[in-house]
Amino acid sequence: MRLVILGPPGAGKGTQAASIVEEFDVKHISTGDIFRENIKNETELGTKAKSYMDQGLLVPDELVNEIVVDRIAKDDVKNGFLLDGFPRTVNQAVALDAALENMETKLDRVINIIVDSELLIERACGRRVCPECGATYHISNNPPASPGICDEDGATLIQREDDVEETVKTRIQVYEDQTSPLVDYYKAQGLLLDIDGGKEIAAVWEDIKAGLKQGANE
Ligand code: ADP
Ligand code: ADP
Repeated sequence: MRLVILGPPGAGKGTQAASIVEEFDVKHISTGDIFRENIKNETELGTKAKSYMDQGLLVPDELVNEIVVDRIAKDDVKNGFLLDGFPRTVNQAVALDAALENMETKLDRVINIIVDSELLIERACGRRVCPECGATYHISNNPPASPGICDEDGATLIQREDDVEETVKTRIQVYEDQTSPLVDYYKAQGLLLDIDGGKEIAAVWEDIKAGLKQGANE
């Protein structure tokens, strides 16, 4: 299956992605993770992306499109992929469609996670991540067994630099302005699977699983 997961910052895309990739045996491709890895390794791409990310703004399309187009052409995604955090603009969606067409394939479904803005701020600001394995927690909604310590590998959890209230608010606004038009873009293609992301993590997962097994809810 070739999937996109769409939703504002803090909606629960990464959290649900972990379950989706396991159940449906597809590769998780997160452009945010790719940029954070590049920042950690101090690459040229990382340096360019960081200034935008720190402000909560989108990295320019030309820096993102090529990375994703190359990534989805790799052998290890033959069985399918889940794009998380891409596309974020109509330009990116058009580039993705063109790349898939070149590969004589197309998207199967776009999962659209819908969550109120107030919940998003609470979720993003309470998010803690493992710098080693990327596991995501929430200080109250989804805490690790020992506070501040990753359940998987015992590393000390960190807060992303862009998960502070002012930057989260900017990111939500950027989503409304530049990414939300993709909802109509994919609805018009009959691909959209709307999901109520305001429920608990396990309930959201049940809805996504049922939706993907049944077909789009148009
Ligand atoms: P995104 O990838 O969309 O930015 P995440 O999956 O990282 O979002 O989730 C943001 C934060 O909200 C994390 O701290 C996560 O543990 C928490 N979270 C995710 N889904 C839910 C949910 N359904 N209910 C409550 N908290 C959630
Ligand atoms: P979240 O899951 O909270 O929405 P991400 O990890 O997907 O956040 O993205 C973090 C930041 O990385 C974004 O605010 C943006 O600066 C940059 N970024 C990630 N993906 C893209 C993309 N497809 N286009 C432009 N910028 C991106």
